[in-house]
Formats: sequence, structure tokens, C-alpha cells
Amino acid sequence: MGYATALRCRKCGQEYPLQPINLCDFCLSPLEVSYDYKAMAKGISREKLAGGPLTMWRYRDMLPVESEEVDIGTGFTPLVKADNLGRELGLDRLYIKNDCLNPTYSFKDRPVSVAITKAQEFGFDTIACASTGNLAASVAAHAAKANMKAYVFVPSDVEPGKLIGIAIYNPVLVTVDGIYDDVNRLCAKLTQKYNWGFININLRPYYAEGSKTLGYEVAEQLGWRAPDCVISPAASGLSFTRIWKGLDELSMLGLIEPVNTHMYLTQAAGSSPIVNAFQTGTLHVHPVEPNTIAKSIAIGNPADGYYALRAARQSGGGACAVTDEEIIAGMKLLAQTEGIFAEAVGGVVVSALRKLAASGLIKRNELTVALITGAGPRTQDIISDIVRPFTIQPSLESFEEVLGV
Ligand SMILES: [Zn+2]
Repeated sequence: MGYATALRCRKCGQEYPLQPINLCDFCLSPLEVSYDYKAMAKGISREKLAGGPLTMWRYRDMLPVESEEVDIGTGFTPLVKADNLGRELGLDRLYIKNDCLNPTYSFKDRPVSVAITKAQEFGFDTIACASTGNLAASVAAHAAKANMKAYVFVPSDVEPGKLIGIAIYNPVLVTVDGIYDDVNRLCAKLTQKYNWGFININLRPYYAEGSKTLGYEVAEQLGWRAPDCVISPAASGLSFTRIWKGLDELSMLGLIEPVNTHMYLTQAAGSSPIVNAFQTGTLHVHPVEPNTIAKSIAIGNPADGYYALRAARQSGGGACAVTDEEIIAGMKLLAQTEGIFAEAVGGVVVSALRKLAASGLIKRNELTVALITGAGPRTQDIISDIVRPFTIQPSLESFEEVLGV
């Protein structure tokens, strides 16, 4: 038995039963899952959690599911001490949470695993999503595992490597002539018409909860403590809010000390509506037209932008955007210091971290965790200029001549 009790409107507090709905009837604000934390606290301990499987499902009791989970082996990814990168950036206690190592190579497996488990509980035989690429791959993979039909919708300019990474799982793959925000609007209409479980629309409250496991894992892997600073990319802003919620829940349940983590969010300068709002001091996130190589997070009108903005402010954190040039430099630096080949979003995080450390906002001795959320090999084109091999004949002479040794 799970501890989820209801869906609650984040704005007006109106409660709804645990159903596949995502918006409040009264104020159209997003709904989120609420729990009986008193009962949960009685049923959960560090020891019990530590004895669970080495996947995100070790935190099953803190997720809103009743039935057996649809699991392809997601989570409990490495938290590595990044001494080389830390030296470059001037940070003595830097860790990288390497979520490239999930089954479909991005953190999206976390929210999708929860959402598709709920989709089965609700009796859907078809699931669907609007995606910039990574989510579609994850949905398609989980649908394969769960023997469900999947429709996935992506913008037509999605990277070719990502299309292959989706198509291999054999979903109905639809490319839409438009940007992500157009795809999302189309999917909202489809939700009204078809009785499908839309992972990030009518199943969104459950989907959101999966990202909390990133916060749980970081704290457990640090020896049951919250970091001083977390830096995370933001697209819709949803996962950013949930990572903070995950840390907060651990403290509420008495598993860690009160949380004083500063949450820093980062976006690409070519698609930075949340960062813009943070920097101008407004509460309103004004939509932008995305134009960046970091396509995974190129969302011009972020659904949870307001809440992500609030989390950054309330936690005493911040927001930082970086240019495409800086993104590529960040990708290379991460690979060449820590051996991690992340997608462009990883470059966003690393370059933003460099700026935040240089400006003194994140201090040298603060325990800082950088979230690297997706792997690079599906989007290699943007860094193809690095391929400069030495070409030689198969002889010792040629080797020494060409390399000058
Ligand atoms: Zn409401």
C-alpha cells in the first residue's frame, strides 16, 4: 500500500482523487500528489531504504504507486567526486550525479517509470508524450517493457541520433512540423480526444514524482545529508522543483537534517525564459522562441517555470544561462576532466557552474552537486570538429614521422 492520498492544486489547495488529471478545475493550476507523511515516516527508515534494490525503486514507498512497477533498471546512478573538474572551476567539494547511466541514457527514465506504472493502474493500453527527444525514447522503451502501445511526438528538427534512439523501441513515432511548444499544444488537444495516458499531460502529477528520486539518491549517496548547492538544468522547470521537494521530504521524514540546499537552475541563453525572469526579478516567466543547440531543454514556454523560479529564490539559489559556445566548451571540459560524455545540457550545467563559482555565488568549500542528466552519443554532430586523428601508414617509420616522436 502506498502513502499517496490525493491530488492537490498547487495554487488554491483544492483536492482531487488520484486520477489521470493534471489541472485544477477552478484555477487551472497544476495538481501535485499529496501524501500521508505521518504514516510514511513510521514505515520508512534509512536501514529499510538501504536494503532495497539498487534502482530508483528502493524509494517505492515514497512514490505514488500501488501496483508492481514497470522497471527497466533505472536509477541509483553513480555520484562521483569530481576532483579534476572541481580544480578547473575552483570548487573543492564538487560531485557529479551521472544520470547519463540510466537505461535510455537520460534522467527521464525516472519520471517515466512512475508515470507508466500509473498508466497501467489506470487501465490505459496506450501511452503517449510530447518530447524534445529524450522523453520519447524513455516512453517508448518503457512501453516495450510493459507491452503497451506508444505514440510519441517530437519536433521535426530533432537530432537524427535521437530519432534512432527512439525508433529502436518501435513506438508510433510522429515528427511535428514546429517547435516543442507546438508539439505540446497539439498533444493537449489529442488528450481531449483520445483515451491515452499522456505521460507529461494527464499523468503529469505522477510523472513529476519520479524526479524526486534524484534528490533522494544524492542525499543517501552523500551519507544521508543534503548538499549545500545543487545545480540542475531546467526545461519545463518540473524536475528542478521535484529534486528540491525530494530533499525536503527526506528531512520531513526525519531521514536527514533540515535542508538548507541552494538550488541553482541553468538554461541555454537561446532558450532561457526562467533565467530571464530570475534576473529581472519578476514572478512572470515570459515565453521565448528557443534557438539553441541544447535542444533537450529548448522549451520556450515552461509549464512549471513559475514554480522553478520560486524554488530557486526560496532556496537562496540562483539562475544562470550560457551561450552555445560555452555549452560546447562545457561538454568538452566535462569529458576531458571526468571522462563523462554528456549531451549539450551537460555542457550547460558545467559552464554555468564555472560562472557561478567565478562570481563567488557558489563558494569553494560548499558541497556542490552538479546534475548531468543525459548522455552525449546521440547528439554527436555539434562537436564533430573535435575529430582530428593522425593518419599514418602501418609502419613504425610512418608513425614516428607523422607524430614527430
Ligand atoms: Zn486550484
